[in-house]
Amino acid sequence: MNRAVFLDRDGVLVRDVHLLARPEDIEILPGVPGTLAQLHRAGFKLLVVSNQPVVARGSLDEAGVRRLQKLIEDQIQLAGGPALDGFYFCPHHPKATVPAYRVMCECRKPRPLMLQQAARDHGVNLASSFMVGDRITDVIAGAAAGCRTVQVETGMHLAPPIETEQPLDSSIKPGHVCADLSAAARWILEQS
Ligand SMILES: [Mg+2]
Ligand SMILES: [Zn+2]
Repeated sequence: MNRAVFLDRDGVLVRDVHLLARPEDIEILPGVPGTLAQLHRAGFKLLVVSNQPVVARGSLDEAGVRRLQKLIEDQIQLAGGPALDGFYFCPHHPKATVPAYRVMCECRKPRPLMLQQAARDHGVNLASSFMVGDRITDVIAGAAAGCRTVQVETGMHLAPPIETEQPLDSSIKPGHVCADLSAAARWILEQS
């Protein structure tokens, strides 16, 4: 079985600019390509799991999200990072303006379905894997999937939690809190 680092995208890999939709707004955060390379060399699958309410709001379609992701991954590789192993996103939102996406889905974090799906697709043992995110909902999704969790302070860590149908379980805390993805990787490599 493989080990994985599940990665939230906005606020972890790229600057969270709130509903990223334009290529010119992509900003890879400092140290990210090199850190991903380090995790890749250590044998971790690198699997991005991202809520993308831009689709529910109609500012980008699913193909557009994939095109933007390709540009992000190209920039990461140009800066010396590895190819990422998978990209999973939830296009839904309980208050979507696009009716087709206005559903109580199973994939939107804090639910763990994206991690579980990615784990099935990539033969990943969740108990030896990690989730890195900037929001508490990333941490809750990771914990619900059975992963160890890290919260980084490069994004929305101080913002109010995203809107969810059910109240968040306030007893769930990150396994580690640190400045950024590089610090998260140091902790992950120490644990494993
Ligand atoms: Mg985020
Ligand atoms: Zn969803």
